[in-house]
Amino acid sequence: MNVFEGKTIYPGTAVGRASISSFVRCNQTDGTQDAYTQKERYFKAKENVKNDLVSLCATDFDSDVYDIIKSYILILEDEEFDSLVLNIINVEKTSAECAVKKASEHFASVLKKSGDAYIKGRVSDVYDLSDRIRETLKEISSANNSPAEKTDTKEAVILVSEYMSVTEIIKRGKENIAGLISTKNTLHSHASIVARSLGIPAIIVNDLKDISSLAGKKILIDGFEGKIYIEPSEEIVQEKKSEKEVYVHSADGITVYANVTSAKDVDDAIKFGADGIGLFRTEMFFLENDYFPTEEEQFEIYKQAAINAAGKDIVLRTIDLGDDKTPAYLNLKDKTLRGIKLCLSMPEIFKTQLKALLRASSFGNILVMFPMISSMDEVIATKQILDEVKAELRNKNITFNESIKIGAMIETPEAVEIAKALAKEFDFFSVGSNDLTQYALNVDRLSSAEEKNYNQKDPKVLALIEKTVKAAHNAGITVGICGELASDISFMSNLKGIGFDYVSVSIPVLEKIKCK
Ligand code: PEP
Ligand code: MG
Repeated sequence: MNVFEGKTIYPGTAVGRASISSFVRCNQTDGTQDAYTQKERYFKAKENVKNDLVSLCATDFDSDVYDIIKSYILILEDEEFDSLVLNIINVEKTSAECAVKKASEHFASVLKKSGDAYIKGRVSDVYDLSDRIRETLKEISSANNSPAEKTDTKEAVILVSEYMSVTEIIKRGKENIAGLISTKNTLHSHASIVARSLGIPAIIVNDLKDISSLAGKKILIDGFEGKIYIEPSEEIVQEKKSEKEVYVHSADGITVYANVTSAKDVDDAIKFGADGIGLFRTEMFFLENDYFPTEEEQFEIYKQAAINAAGKDIVLRTIDLGDDKTPAYLNLKDKTLRGIKLCLSMPEIFKTQLKALLRASSFGNILVMFPMISSMDEVIATKQILDEVKAELRNKNITFNESIKIGAMIETPEAVEIAKALAKEFDFFSVGSNDLTQYALNVDRLSSAEEKNYNQKDPKVLALIEKTVKAAHNAGITVGICGELASDISFMSNLKGIGFDYVSVSIPVLEKIKCK
């Protein structure tokens, strides 16, 4: 039995067989792969990706998007890339996944050296395509039952990865994941937030080196003590399973909303006593899918969520994609785009979501919130699109809540700077302390090396938060907080003192407060 210490993302005890994330699975059988099979898999995956891209061309996109899709197809048709992949498979006897990863890294490094800005700009396309091909290979793998992993797929697994992926967690589903172990994640990444909000015991163990060697092994996570046990004895498993945390917490009289990612979560949150839903991260449904969800698909979810909120406020945040929440089908060329900027760069996708949200507003008390608002130009553009969508619905005699409230997430220092002006444009603010901290302190929330400097209670962050609350109240609008700082129970009375009208917390935290 080996024991490793780590940092707890979410406490709890979990036991299961290790399943290695697809991100590293390609290393598992390096040097022993049958080259013929791997080449066949590579060509099949490439063909599938190409077919997907060709069918995307039939969608009503801007010409820019067509150009990107076409450039992706050109890379896929590049014989040099093929021969690199095939050579790696032949010589190194690696899986197709590994060969694609290595070939794309080599290809990208050559492009990076180019003096031509256009060619340099193709680097992110190469990485995107590599992700897509490997994602497709994974699907082909499961269809062929290869590569082997010694886990009983019916049992929930301990998912082990270097960097946890939001998409992977969401796609596998909570019921299939007993626990999560990561070697390079940070406590503040979106994947960590998702783990916490789903209540999955999760831990970061930097000292684990060869994670692929863990595949199929029995692992015990003790999230309370921040330890993992590899091949633990039955005694220790039983001992740890019987330990339970005793919760005695108070919400100090502040209104408590919940952060959720699905209509089912809304139902749970209301049952656990939430006063409302302060943040519905709608992008999770986009990450679960392999294509942009249609208006009807979105409408059904938002409508069900509104019904489940049982007359209470439900704040639906429009998609905050980009960064560590980038589905492959987004074909994101500019990696700096995120939140509202990304939505404004693809107005048709944005309009589709707004139509679905507005239609659902007839079924409950929906409020719409926009992520990463940072300038008045963004506010003007966002409101214009919202007005266009409203007009379109009116023209079609489709009912929606005409006085639907709109809110802005305040999660960049730029937004705080213009908070007074923003407060005149919105009905409410919600502070996103997760992003506000990274931008205010200039610390990447995804970098484990910078983690020691990431502190949501830093005086600089708190000063920005206080300024936001004042600006909101001076303008007579509501202000809540939905970042992870709100879920810090020991800080709840301080948040009340700062003047927040509500805090919005993850469901496991809500359970601790409300279900004493
Ligand atoms: C935040 O930034 O605090 C927030 C709630 O948004 P997200 O964590 O989804 O980026
Ligand atoms: Mg945020």
